[in-house]
Amino acid sequence: MKNLNVEKNNYSNLPSSEGFFGEYGGQFVPPQLKDALDEVAQAYEKAKNDPTFQAELKMLLADYVGRPSSLFFAKNLTEKCGGAKIYLKREDLNHTGAHKINHTLGQALLAKRMGKKKLLAETGAGQHGVALATAAALLGLECEIHMGAIDVKKQHQNVLRMLLLGAKVVTVESGGKCLKDAVDSAFGVYIKEYADTFFGIGSVVGPHPYPMMVRDFQSTIGKEAREQILKKENKLPNYLVACVGGGSNAMGLFHAFLDDDVKMIGVEPAGKSFKPGDHAATLTLGTPGTLHGMFTYLLQDDEGESLPVHSIASGLDYPGVGPQHSFLKDKERVEYVSANDKEALEAFQVLSKTEGIIPALESAHAVAHAIRLAGKLKKDEIIIVNLSGRGDKDVDYVGEILGIN
Ligand SMILES: *Cc1c(COP(=O)(O)O)cnc(C)c1O
Repeated sequence: MKNLNVEKNNYSNLPSSEGFFGEYGGQFVPPQLKDALDEVAQAYEKAKNDPTFQAELKMLLADYVGRPSSLFFAKNLTEKCGGAKIYLKREDLNHTGAHKINHTLGQALLAKRMGKKKLLAETGAGQHGVALATAAALLGLECEIHMGAIDVKKQHQNVLRMLLLGAKVVTVESGGKCLKDAVDSAFGVYIKEYADTFFGIGSVVGPHPYPMMVRDFQSTIGKEAREQILKKENKLPNYLVACVGGGSNAMGLFHAFLDDDVKMIGVEPAGKSFKPGDHAATLTLGTPGTLHGMFTYLLQDDEGESLPVHSIASGLDYPGVGPQHSFLKDKERVEYVSANDKEALEAFQVLSKTEGIIPALESAHAVAHAIRLAGKLKKDEIIIVNLSGRGDKDVDYVGEILGIN
C-alpha cells in the first residue's frame, strides 16, 4: 500500500490545549463567551476522565441508541460494482435514524453534570434540533431550538417532532430567515443565559472545545468499525468513505484509524454545479477564514462573508467545515472529493434497490463515491462506507423529483 504519510501519534492526539489542529480551530468569540466556553472545556475534560460519566454514556448508547451499530457486508452492491468489498457502517439503525444522537446524548449528559437546566441550539433542516430535543426529553432538560422562518415552513415534520418531544421552537424572522440567522439568534440568547444554559452544537464545528468534544462522542463509530472489520476480515480496511457537511460522521469514523495505514475519503456535496451558491464543497473550493468561532476552510466572498450554499441533502449545506478536516486536508492525510445532486440521487436509488436500504440523501453522497471507487479496486480490497442516516425523511422529496408520487 502507498505510504500515507502516517506517523504514529501524529494525528489522533490533536487538538492542542487551545483547540488548534495546526493553524485551524481555536476560539474566535467575544470575551463574554470565552468564560462560558472555558467552563464547558473544563467540565468536559473532567467528564472525559470520569469512569461514572463514561459508563452512563456507554449504557445510553447501548440501551437507548442501540449500539454497536452493525457493520454490514453489502454483497449485492459489491457484486454490482465488481471490485472491492463494500461494508456499510449502519448509523441509520440508531434510535432517531442517524449518527447525530451520539453527540447530542454526550452533550446533554455533560450539561446535566454541569447543573445546566436548558439545552439551546439553532437548527437548519431540523435534524440537529430533533436529536437535541430527544436527548433533552430523555434526560429531563428544557430545550430551546432557534430555526429560520423559511426552514420552519420547509421542514414542518421536524418542527412537529421537536414540539412533541417537549422543545420550544423559536421562529427567526430576521435577515434571510435561514440557518445563519438562527445561529445569530441562538447566540444572542446564550450570551444572556449561559449561567443556566448549555449550547448544543450539531457537528464538529464552532469554537473549542466543540470540534474535539463532538468528535470524541462520535468516535465510537470508528472504534466499533475497527473491531468489527478485524473480526470479520482479520485485517484493516483499505478505504473509509464518509459524507462531509460539518464533518461529524466522517470524523467519527476516521478518528480511530488516523494512525493506521488506511486511506480516508470525505465526500462533499457538489450540488447543481461548481458555481458559487450551487454547491457546498467547502474543502474542494473554499479558502481559510473565520466563521462561527473557528478558523477553517469556508465558502466566502472577497469580504469574508459566507456564500449561499446548496445541496440536495439539507444536512450537508453548510458554508464551513470542522477545523480538523481543514488540517487533515492540508496534511493530505484525508482526501476530499465531491458528488453532485444527480450522483447522490442515483446512489440513493441503487442502494435502495440492491440492498433494501434507503439511505439519507446525505449518506448517499458517500455511497455514490464508494460505487465510483469500488470498481477500480481489487476484489481483496475493502471499503467501509459510513451510512450516516436513513432516508425516510427524504422519500417525499425524492418521490417528487422522480415523479413517482
Ligand atoms: C446532519 C447529517 C449529516 C451531516 O453532518 P456531519 O456533521 O457532516 O456528519 C450527514 N448525514 C446525516 C444523516 C445527517 O443527519
